[in-house]
Amino acid sequence: MAEPARRLDTIDVRPAWTADDLAAMEASYTGVPAPAMLALLLTGELKGRIAAVSSFGAESAVLLHMVASVDPDVPVVFTNTQKMFGETLAYRDELAERLGLTDLRVYRPDPRVLRLRDGTGLRWSYDPDGCCEQRKVEPLRRALVPFDAWISGRKGFQAGTRRALPRFEIDDGRLKINPLADWSKGDLDTYFAAHDLPRHPLEAQGYPSIGCAPCTSKVRPGEDPRAGRWRGWDKVECGIHQPAVGTDEPAF
Ligand code: SF4
Repeated sequence: MAEPARRLDTIDVRPAWTADDLAAMEASYTGVPAPAMLALLLTGELKGRIAAVSSFGAESAVLLHMVASVDPDVPVVFTNTQKMFGETLAYRDELAERLGLTDLRVYRPDPRVLRLRDGTGLRWSYDPDGCCEQRKVEPLRRALVPFDAWISGRKGFQAGTRRALPRFEIDDGRLKINPLADWSKGDLDTYFAAHDLPRHPLEAQGYPSIGCAPCTSKVRPGEDPRAGRWRGWDKVECGIHQPAVGTDEPAF
């Protein structure tokens, strides 16, 4: 029997990225600084097929400045979990204006899902994995449908689970690029100063990594920058990012 017809816009026709593609990317861009690499990718084969994903957190301005310097029309995806700090939303608007971003795309959780599974809005307090799935992962999945590749601002120094972060990964069939994978905190500070970029207002108050308000606490001296995320839980990632290739530590 013939398969039932499917709507054309639900059929995934993205080209599949392969391990060979990753190896070729790594070889092509080894030793190429992040800004130059982004310039080549955004104006070359990935033009019109790629988005930047940003949480507008503590160091997001660096990656966004690099992207906007090449092409301010590159889509920038922001997932508003509706649990964000007010300071983050204000910083998002300030940065978007300052950098001239023309295509900021804000995605939110499906209100029907929230009504059914998080009616009290407190799911984060007893099931943070489920909360992240409905408030971050699913909206991002929707946001990325039109794209073959995306750019993430993760850095290897942020946590033990990110130490082996490569610059190129395959994630759910898409190419994921981590231009700042090998950047240090000092590199970021230098970039902030060189381009006179504004800081997230909570950074100076002891928050080097900033997510949703209920799941972000201050970090003590000597701790990993992400130690304040989901403090008290055996959880270090929101589920958006799978474990880095070469890492044997789980991402969740
Ligand atoms: S970080 Fe916390 S509040 Fe935000 S989506 Fe995840 S569990 Fe929910």
